[in-house]
Amino acid sequence: MKYADEFRDRQAVAARLATLGEAATRRWTIMEVCGGQTHNLLRYGLPQAIDAQVELIHGPGCPVCVTAAATIDRAISLAQTPGCLVASFGDMLRVPGSSLSLQQARARGAAVQLVYSPLDAVALAQREPARQVVFLAVGFETTAPATALAVLQAARWGLTNFSLLVAHVRVLPAMELIAGDAACRIDGFLAAGHVCTVTGANVYEDFVSRHRLPVAVTGFEPVDLLDGLLACVRLLEARRPAVANAYVRAVSSEGNRHAQAIVEQVFEPCDRTWRGLGTVPGGGLQLRSAWSEFCAERRFGAADGEAADGDSRCPSARVLTGQMRPTQCPYFGRECTPLAPLGAPMVSDEGACSAYYRYGRVYA
Ligand code: SF4
Repeated sequence: MKYADEFRDRQAVAARLATLGEAATRRWTIMEVCGGQTHNLLRYGLPQAIDAQVELIHGPGCPVCVTAAATIDRAISLAQTPGCLVASFGDMLRVPGSSLSLQQARARGAAVQLVYSPLDAVALAQREPARQVVFLAVGFETTAPATALAVLQAARWGLTNFSLLVAHVRVLPAMELIAGDAACRIDGFLAAGHVCTVTGANVYEDFVSRHRLPVAVTGFEPVDLLDGLLACVRLLEARRPAVANAYVRAVSSEGNRHAQAIVEQVFEPCDRTWRGLGTVPGGGLQLRSAWSEFCAERRFGAADGEAADGDSRCPSARVLTGQMRPTQCPYFGRECTPLAPLGAPMVSDEGACSAYYRYGRVYA
């Protein structure tokens, strides 16, 4: 497969592993922020292969996993409201709220529909004018432009039965929180390549100069991941905190200006509760006042208070902040599996617990 096979090539991987072995004079602690990267690192056995040079800490980079239980509870209550239908992505439907997931609520009669894009939800609202369609909007900076486009499309069509329950999160404020923690023992970060296609690599410059921690913009295939790790290790060995772009085939310094402008037009940063991290200052997006007619919480009311973060047994906060590996959780693979998840990280394809369940049970 063109543009994939060459980045999974065994010889290319072996060459990079050898170079990494030569480049590292000690074992460095590096956090990959993105859950998609966590999955591929484990899928290709890279944590074991680089264990002598790099201790990987898996960050909170799964937007589905960090969606607060209160938001899911609110989505469920809307889906149970006569005349309302809640639409969202497949992963989102399975994430537990404080007592139920949207999927479980649907089995009990709530109006919930899986969609593949925000524009599908807009089309749904156009087809069903008698229903209020609420799109539970989730994702990082990568998916926010598509949600912003959905708002613009709904406005263009004059839809009064489409709204958003916004759970979009922003990566950089979460990295700020992690790096600013006095207990942080991370030497460097791998930044999520797909997020950087929108934001650009330069967005990390200020972070790097303030925290004196290098950031390597990194892709998702084994060769990409090793290139990112190698770039980060070289900066660490040189004692040179800087931003390295190891994903130049997809990421530019400035990012996608058009996508940034659309997001800027529709959304503004806000504080957001991340499951496991608590309130992240500036860690979310909310609709600007000019678009508040599309805000589901304005139209139907906000959630009642704070819900507990799902099943109280689940120690996902420690997993999402890199303090504990999923395999160290007493429920991992026993009471908690992808078919019967106790916590969100076991649900999503990008969740760390799900990644370990699928690929990494030997890497404890
Ligand atoms: S294995 Fe399950 S219970 Fe344990 S932290 Fe992960 S999601 Fe939570």
